[in-house]
Amino acid sequence: MNIIQLDENVSLTRDLESGTEKQQDSVQAIIRKVREKGDQGLKDLTEMYDGVQLDELFVSEEEYAEAYKDFDDRSLDALQRAIGNIRSFHKKQIRQSWMTTEEDGTMLGQKITPLDYAGVYVPGGKAAYPSTIMMNVIPAQTAGVRNIIMTSPPNQDGKLTPAVLVTAAELGVTHILKAGGAQAVAALAYGTESVPRVDKITGPGNIYVALAKRAVFGQVDIDMIAGPSEIVVLADDSTRPDYAAADLLSQAEHDEMSSAVMVTTSRTIAEKTKAEVETQLADLPRKEIAEASIKNHGAIYVADSLDEAVEAVNELAPEHLELLIQDPHALLGKIRHAGAIFLGSNSSEPVGDYMAGPNHVLPTNGTARFSSPLSVDDFTKKSSIISYSEQAFLQEADDIAAIARMEGLEAHARAVEIRGKGEK
Ligand code: NAD
Repeated sequence: MNIIQLDENVSLTRDLESGTEKQQDSVQAIIRKVREKGDQGLKDLTEMYDGVQLDELFVSEEEYAEAYKDFDDRSLDALQRAIGNIRSFHKKQIRQSWMTTEEDGTMLGQKITPLDYAGVYVPGGKAAYPSTIMMNVIPAQTAGVRNIIMTSPPNQDGKLTPAVLVTAAELGVTHILKAGGAQAVAALAYGTESVPRVDKITGPGNIYVALAKRAVFGQVDIDMIAGPSEIVVLADDSTRPDYAAADLLSQAEHDEMSSAVMVTTSRTIAEKTKAEVETQLADLPRKEIAEASIKNHGAIYVADSLDEAVEAVNELAPEHLELLIQDPHALLGKIRHAGAIFLGSNSSEPVGDYMAGPNHVLPTNGTARFSSPLSVDDFTKKSSIISYSEQAFLQEADDIAAIARMEGLEAHARAVEIRGKGEK
């Protein structure tokens, strides 16, 4: 992990991964196959990429029930507490439709409607991600989405892990498709005989999932193209190096491509944190992944002042930002770009990953400059409401016709003028 003095020559930005040509071609071929062959195409592709022949594409009631048998009470308890916290936070995001009435009787407003169908991709196969299920399903349910189709790749026995099934069951998700990769995304986007076409697909995944989401965008909405996980820890001379190192490694263990960065005003803390990272890495179960991430995408930047450090943070626009400094609240106003901001040493990033309540699906790759965490808004849409009174109409008819003619749209102008002429 290099220690780098910040100056104007240091580049902090990172390119977005767009996949190889081969990966792009194979995603296009997979999407075509699902569109042409429907359920059979899904089954063939699942056999090809996940190595399992499926009779049934959806999880059965028996599989749900069986999952609880292998699940311990301690884990169930933790899941239930997390679900409660996440639901309670997302309820605060609900927006109301609104309407205003002007003095002349004109009514204008905005009507909020939940999406009819949402598709949630949950990565799987090798690992289980109950937190992904909670973070995607809860905002959709809170928005009022009635039909949620979850999809996750099956293991070699054609099953999903108990942790995934129990989390889905606790949330009341009843439709779980056993499919992964680009084929699952295609099935959700276009529909098959047994998979309903959805309106929006959310959830993270590998490069095939990301490329497929990009390819079907427009046919359906998507949440975002998630890049590798990122953390920036902002530190001063009060920061505990062992805490900072542990938090950096908590992101580095996600993926070789993840980035873990510290920005600090203290060279002493920089050096101590670098040493701590090496010590803590030694016995991490996911040492190889974390080591590669730290080596290729990790860095400690040393700034001359807190202002210079904050400038670097805003340029990085990280997915996760920890303010591990003396007075984090005093600095909050200066942070302009970050997906989630964790204040103080009790707010380690995993607190937000699993339990606090805010969504952990966050903008990566510097996109916090213009986008936000997944929320209830992502599962609703707005319709504008326009109800003009006669008085308002007559008063503005000439202006409307004038603007229409400026645009050369005569029929628009006449649609207004025909109404000003009284009874026919
Ligand atoms: P995945 O579910 O994303 O992908 C598995 C699927 O990829 C398989 O079902 C298969 O269909 C497809 N696939 C594999 N090789 C293929 C090939 N050669 N050609 C075409 N399709 C192929 O699971 P994963 O691979 O374990 O990746 C999960 C990713 O999601 C990781 O990068 C992980 O870091 C990320 N993740 C992110 C978050 C987050 O919140 N940001 C949470 C959990 C997981």
